[in-house]
Parts: sequence; C-alpha cells; structure tokens
Amino acid sequence: MKPGAAALAAFRRDVAGVPLHDDPSYVAAKSRDYFWYSPILAEQLDGQTADLVAIPATTADVHRIASAAARHRIPLTVRGGGTGNYGQCVPLQRGVVLDVTKLDRILEITSDAIRTEAGARILAVDEAAGETGQMLNMWPSTRRLATIGGFIAGGSGGIGSLRHGMLRDGGNVRSLTVVTLEPEPRTVTLDGSDIQWVHHAYGTNGIITELTLALSPRTEWTHTVALFDGYDAALRFAMQTQTELDAFLLTPVERRFAPFYRRMAAFFPADRDAVFAMIAPNETARFATLAAAHGGTVSLSKTLAEIEAENLTPAYECGWNHTTLQALKHDKGWTYLQTAYPRPFDPALVMRQMARYGDEVLMHHEMARMDGTVQVLALPLVRWTTRRRMYAIIAEMEADGCTVFDPHAVTIEDGGMKTIDAAQIDFKKRADPYGLMNPGKTRGWTPEMAET
Ligand code: FAD
Repeated sequence: MKPGAAALAAFRRDVAGVPLHDDPSYVAAKSRDYFWYSPILAEQLDGQTADLVAIPATTADVHRIASAAARHRIPLTVRGGGTGNYGQCVPLQRGVVLDVTKLDRILEITSDAIRTEAGARILAVDEAAGETGQMLNMWPSTRRLATIGGFIAGGSGGIGSLRHGMLRDGGNVRSLTVVTLEPEPRTVTLDGSDIQWVHHAYGTNGIITELTLALSPRTEWTHTVALFDGYDAALRFAMQTQTELDAFLLTPVERRFAPFYRRMAAFFPADRDAVFAMIAPNETARFATLAAAHGGTVSLSKTLAEIEAENLTPAYECGWNHTTLQALKHDKGWTYLQTAYPRPFDPALVMRQMARYGDEVLMHHEMARMDGTVQVLALPLVRWTTRRRMYAIIAEMEADGCTVFDPHAVTIEDGGMKTIDAAQIDFKKRADPYGLMNPGKTRGWTPEMAET
C-alpha cells in the first residue's frame, strides 16, 4: 500500500501550513527507533523509511493530517520519542511519520492525577507533577526522550512497577483520547477497561492526543547498591526485600555486568553480584540489615541530587532495558531477551540456566507486580551468534516454564502478547477503517478488513 506521488502531493496540499519534512536523511532518522538492539530486527528494518514527516503543533493540525491521510489512503505511523525497541515506529509501507512531540502541554493537575497532551516527554510530566508534591507511578528509564503517549502506546511498565503494577493494572491510566483516521476524524475518549483497546496497540488504532494518569505522593527515593557473594543470594535478598520494604525499584544484576558500569566501578566491583534499588528514605537502615542477613553489604546509598552531583549513574539507569544499553555501549556483540519467570519464583532455576549457558547469557532480573502479585522478570543479555541459536535459547527458556516476550519480532502478537487482541482489532475497525495506521504491526488486521 505504498502511496503514489499524486496521493502525496494531494496530502501536502490539504495540510498546507503544517510543518512537513522530506529531506531523505531527516526522514530516515525519524523512521527509526531502538530496534538495532536486535540483529534480527536490524536486518529486517534497516533502510525502511517514510516519505514525509509531519509535525503538528495543535490537535486541529492532527485532525487535518488524519483527514488527509484517510482521504488519500496514505499510511501513517505515529512517533513519540522513538525509543521503542521493536521497530514499533518504523514505517513498513512508507507514507507519513507523525511526530507528536510538539503536542506537549500539561493540561491539568489534580490531587491524584495529571492530564497531559500525548507528546510531552515523560520527565517533563513527572517534573510538573513534582511541583504539586506528586509523581508518576511508573516510567521507563528512557524518560528524558520518551513521550508519555509513546509509553502508553508502546510500553508496558518499568521503574515503579514493583510498587504500582504494570500500566494496564488498576487505574494507572485513567483515560485517553484518540483522534481517528477517517475523512472526518472523530475524537474518542476511553476510560475504565476500554483503555486496553489502545494501550500497547503500537499506534495501530488511533492517534493518542491526550491522557490522564494516576499520580502518587512524591518520595525522594534513595538510590542504593547492595553487593552479594553469589547471584542466588542477590535474588533471595531481592525477593525478601520486595515483601518487607517500601521499594520503587529492585534490580538484581550479576557480576559479569560490572565492566559495563564504569561510572559505578567503585560501588559495583567485578567480584560481586549487585542489587540496584530505589527504596524509601526511612528504610535505608532496614535495607542494610536485610542485605547483611543475606551475607551482603551496602556499597552506595544516595539521593538522586547527590548521584547527579557526583556524576554517578542513577539506579534506574542500571535496570530494565538500560542494562542492555550499558552493555551495547561497550560491546556490540550482545543482544537480549525479555522473560517472565514461573510463579512462585525459584532462584535455583536461574542458577541452572546460568550453568547451562555459561558466557553466552548474562543474567539481570526485575521485581515487578502484575495483577497484584509479584512477578519476577528478566532481561538477560545474549551473545549474538545466529537466529537459529537465539530461537533455540528461547525454546529452552520456555521449556523451563518462562514466558518469553520476543524482542526480535515486529508485531504486537509475536512480541509480547502472543494472541490477537480482538477488542483492539474491533476498535481499529472504527478508528482506522482503511488500515492505514502503522501497517504490518498487528497480525490481527488483514488487508481485506479495510473499507474501500
Ligand atoms: P515511540 O518509540 O515513539 O513509539 C512507541 C509506539 O507507540 C510506536 O508504535 C508508536 O507508533 C506509538 N505511538 C507513539 N506515540 C503515539 C501516540 N501519541 N498515539 C498513538 N501511538 C503512538 N518500555 C517499557 O515499557 N518499560 C521500560 O522500562 C523500558 N525501558 C527501556 C529502556 C531503554 C534503554 C530503551 C531503549 C527502551 C525502553 N523501553 C521500555 C521502550 C520505550 O522506551 C518505552 O516504551 C517508551 O515509553 C516509548 O516512548 P516513545 O515516546 O519513545 O515511543
């Protein structure tokens, strides 16, 4: 469904006044995200590019762009910060990239929620909440670049998920507003469970323009590192800590990661396994006592202001997918996987996997909460050799009882969701009846579903 020159010319005429860019190198840069973590996706997606980038400044601009794209049947891929890992905002059928980063106004802050335009950077949203003594319930470590709309459309949870669950859980997202891709675009606001129609749909079924998110009272979390003589001890400590202490982040990272954390060398030596944590300031003494009970010691305990003043790495940049980034900065031969461990969690399974893989897989885990109970996740580094070997490792981990969210796949279903979400596809029929939004990213949509 690649657009022809006449359709693109008509689109340009219809949106005259909205900033458009067609410089090939600019368009190519805005057609990429962080898919390069995966050699498999890099092979598939390198060089895929749109025809144009459109940068709306108002929702009225968004309506004009949506209308013109629908009338001239031009594929449209929404882009926030472009920090997704699965090629989520790489256009597979050319067309228009809609860069929403100028839609960045904070609209309202109440005693427990924030209403914001979707293109606001997550850090800016959190800082605005901070001015009222509140904070976002969770965010990815990419919060300086990533937009709040991109997090809801492409992400699932992150730093803070240990305390507040995943994005989809209980009221974390209160409402969202989308503009449909039709000749006469509609504005649709979803709340309650209907939010799931659009959350994690990779921008395939409506342009999110506005969101309301839950806030919680602001805590100046203490950034800490605890060191252990054995990764199993680190895991057991993290499991006990998540039940007994008020923590925002608990990230066990095995010792072979230490060379990738150069700025933290004094606090994370190569002969110890670490737990990076953000814990409530009044819990630091209990944190140290618990660490000692597992044979560990606390090597660092500082506020974020102190961490920044001393040019150290905040705990949240030592966890989630920042671990992969830290490794890739040193050695491009690594890639990664994303897994969820069977419940109840057994550290012995991790130790068996480490013995099985030797230097091919380095372990890093995250403590999170899903549906109200603790779920241990992992983002292990994998030494890249071949696609065949990667899928053999995935099969072995699945045989261990782990769920693997394949980060080497481009569709929603092959990535994390496994099955087609019928409610998302039903909503797509209403919000994107011609199948123009981010085509190729959901297996639930087939060309014959499109209205003509
Ligand atoms: P983009 O990459 O621009 O877009 C993501 C998807 O959302 C695309 O499909 C895009 O089309 C769609 N989209 C964007 N804006 C809109 C909109 N307004 N309307 C409709 N669709 C839209 N993710 C997590 O969930 N948790 C993590 O902890 C985490 N950690 C990360 C760490 C690193 C180092 C990296 C590189 C990535 C990480 N990610 C994580 C993935 C990603 O950074 C986040 O999901 C991020 O919030 C995406 O925001 P973005 O603005 O960059 O979205």
